[in-house]
Amino acid sequence: MSATGTTDLYSTFVSSGPGSFIAGKVGLPQPPVLRRYKAGEPALAGPVLLGGNGRLIEPLREILGDPDSGYELITNNTGGRGADKLGGVVLDATGITQSSELSQLFEFFGPTLRSTGNSARFVVIGTTPELIKNPNEHIAQRALEGFTRSLGKELRKGATAQLVYVSPDAKTGLSGLESTLRFILSAKSAFVDAQVIRVDEKDAAAPASWDKPLQGKVAVVTGAARGIGATIAEVLARDGAHVIAADIPAAGDALSATANKVGGTALPLDVTAADAGTKLAEHVLERHGGVDIIVNNAGITRDKLLANMDDARWSSVIGVNLIAPQKLVDDLVEAGALREGGSVIDVSSIAGIAGNRGQTNYGTSKAGVIGLVDAYAPILAEKKITINAVAPGFIETAMTAAIPLATREVGRRISSLQQGGQTVDVAETVAYFANPASSAVTGNVVRVCGQSMLGA
Ligand code: NAD
Repeated sequence: MSATGTTDLYSTFVSSGPGSFIAGKVGLPQPPVLRRYKAGEPALAGPVLLGGNGRLIEPLREILGDPDSGYELITNNTGGRGADKLGGVVLDATGITQSSELSQLFEFFGPTLRSTGNSARFVVIGTTPELIKNPNEHIAQRALEGFTRSLGKELRKGATAQLVYVSPDAKTGLSGLESTLRFILSAKSAFVDAQVIRVDEKDAAAPASWDKPLQGKVAVVTGAARGIGATIAEVLARDGAHVIAADIPAAGDALSATANKVGGTALPLDVTAADAGTKLAEHVLERHGGVDIIVNNAGITRDKLLANMDDARWSSVIGVNLIAPQKLVDDLVEAGALREGGSVIDVSSIAGIAGNRGQTNYGTSKAGVIGLVDAYAPILAEKKITINAVAPGFIETAMTAAIPLATREVGRRISSLQQGGQTVDVAETVAYFANPASSAVTGNVVRVCGQSMLGA
């Protein structure tokens, strides 16, 4: 799968032999080449080192030590095979109950920093602070976030750091945590950096196959004719889903091309039409008896400084990006078309977190999407449906290709990974949320931005 938008010529140049030499001499940024998922390749480039002494150490050992998991687990870093090229480093920090014990973080991670390979994964596992009753433990666990975000900024060679908070009510934490671990400890999370993911107390059933976790599922992707949506359709189909690719009727051939490529169905659908939700519900009920996954990806920008904003620009952006995603889900639920165990995935943006000049309409809509996730998570949980959002940063698409060169160049470089992401990076995150094994993951917003400084 390749980028559907522009090419980052600068990155290509400095990764070449002569380019790398010149960039090194004059001190130019040298964006690392990120390791991305390829079928048949191991999830990580080297073994995983596991440490810590919390309540989740045994479940973690079970997940990572399972010979079928594809991971090579090691529990000390004192030498031996792979000691100088770790693929992942995981600390169970749930045993940290007061601030003085936070020293475990630098004692454990510090010595590993010089012995990791390309695109290594650093993971801190903690307990969801707001659910902890003891104030000292709450404080210490909250502190893990600052460590993880700072570590992300220090890492090199495409390495990333993430924090996973597991509910204190999770009995073993084993099944609910596994899909998250398999995502962040893999090449699929190449452009996800310094994120905090909350896993709740629910148990989850592992899919029959981790390679095809969406087998037998039906997914709808809006805005699937091109860009990020087209790649989401491809990745969900790769994972086994039947994909209904929806886009405006004018998308015509491009929409058919996506549907054909993924062996799915093309559905011309303007998500802002009053009957869009009922049409979609009818379609999925008639053809498939329902739908399991809905990805609200269709989105538009109509940039203007607020002083020059007009009603059409404002209303169209709020209509497509915020009102439609809510209404589609409402209509599907009301029609009984969204099946139990299903998932809703919305596409926000870092502009909805940081704000962006000239994008008051867009920033409003994308922050509203985060509100939608927050507000609907408990409502949909009653129907055993999850809702999460991805918030992309700078992704190489037609949308970002339209940005003037100088601004585009800044957008690419002001992240820890010093480059734009690919559409596949957003799609892999969507697929992680869509995985039925992610049933304990709801109400999350995961940025796919390489730890962009915007809205950090
Ligand atoms: P894109 O413009 O390439 O594709 C968007 C698709 O949505 C198009 O095919 C378009 O026809 C479709 N669409 C627009 N209005 C629609 C409607 N009313 N009904 C049905 N379909 C409609 O954009 P993209 O870059 O692929 O962005 C996809 C999503 O990701 C959007 O929600 C966007 O806001 C978000 N996003 C993108 C970036 C980025 O860097 N590209 C960053 C942050 C967020």
